Amino acid sequence: MNQTVEKAVAYDVERIRQDFPVLNQEIRGKQLVYLDNAATSQKPKAVIDSIVHYYENDNANIHRGVHTLSERATLSYENARKTVRDFLNANTEKEIVFTRGATEAINLVANGIAKDLSAGDEILITAMEHHSNIVPWQMLCEKTGAELKVAPINDKGELIWDAFEALVSNKTKFAAVSHMSNALGTINPIKQMIDLLHQFDVPVLIDGAQAIPHIAVDVQALDCEFYVFSGHKLYAPTGSGALYGKMEQLEHMAPYQGGGDMISIVTFENTVYNKVPYKFEAGTPNIVGTIGLGAAIDYINTVGIDAIAVHEKSLLEYATEQSKKIDKLRIIGTADNKGAILSFVLDGIHPHDIGTMMDHQGIAVRAGHHCAMPVMDFFGVPATARASFAMYNTHQEVDALMAGIENLIEMFG
Ligand SMILES: *Cc1c(COP(=O)(O)O)cnc(C)c1O
Repeated sequence: MNQTVEKAVAYDVERIRQDFPVLNQEIRGKQLVYLDNAATSQKPKAVIDSIVHYYENDNANIHRGVHTLSERATLSYENARKTVRDFLNANTEKEIVFTRGATEAINLVANGIAKDLSAGDEILITAMEHHSNIVPWQMLCEKTGAELKVAPINDKGELIWDAFEALVSNKTKFAAVSHMSNALGTINPIKQMIDLLHQFDVPVLIDGAQAIPHIAVDVQALDCEFYVFSGHKLYAPTGSGALYGKMEQLEHMAPYQGGGDMISIVTFENTVYNKVPYKFEAGTPNIVGTIGLGAAIDYINTVGIDAIAVHEKSLLEYATEQSKKIDKLRIIGTADNKGAILSFVLDGIHPHDIGTMMDHQGIAVRAGHHCAMPVMDFFGVPATARASFAMYNTHQEVDALMAGIENLIEMFG
């Protein structure tokens, strides 16, 4: 038995599964096999309980009232900020801005830096970005006259380093890069990328939406200016998420939305903005979702992100090995450094049919362009089927996936 398998055995996946009530059900008479975690992950009882507890005991608006419920709600919300700070190893919790998710966080930064850009400036992204990390930068270019540059990828779905390096220059004013691709599973060498970009004084935003449930993140070690993620892929409620930004960057940036809570003084002549991070949290936020995000991170910490990473690596290796035995299956995304995502196509079967036919067997996989149409174009496919793994998936579920694929190939003959 190799070391990975030994650790995977010590990792008590059956006990973990009991913490996720939704997993315990049948779909079309078959035990549910949930392999759509890159789209959203299921929520542990601890998160569900935190939501119920909040609404049954503490519900009030935050930062305003002096009454007890408001104080409790504020305390829980601000505790979640500390939890996120610890999880990312940010310098201070003031560097954590709560958002609706990764998409809102990227738009917040794109709007906040607009005042610093003009014609002739360049913004650099990669060819494997999610639409959320493409479109806000296109919009920013349209607004400012800056130009979007795209670093290419190779046939394995890896960044082509030399081409990336060649695109970085004194014209580069900002870079936004995914930590892990949701369509391919590729994990980018972000530390090296950040170091290179810093040689040209380029601030870097890391899109961590896909990486955060799988990889321990230390924003101080990475030294990135911004790191964004969504709560819902991290076992937390939808509509929660966070932006990490270095203090001096956040202080310099213009606010994104105007409204309550983001101001300290308002008159009709002039308004003074609140301090960071409140400057970026206009209006009543997703209080309960954010408290749920704190609960999700607490839960992850009880299992251990490194133990989760080892387990998921073993699932990916097993799934990759098994899928190589299926002649008609082609894996899309074969990077050397890859997270627990298996994107694939089957000869002669449209990915959408794969999705539907797998559901008939109780298996939830995603079929589509995964919000990464340029990646699909690059590989010359309209879409892929994607199985993506989380802390609660098992090797038996990989077997079920493979059996499901074999059935499908037989059916389509
Ligand atoms: C999911 C995802 C996003 C967008 O996240 P939202 O939760 O939809 O805001 C951005 N980037 C990557 C890599 C993703 O996987």
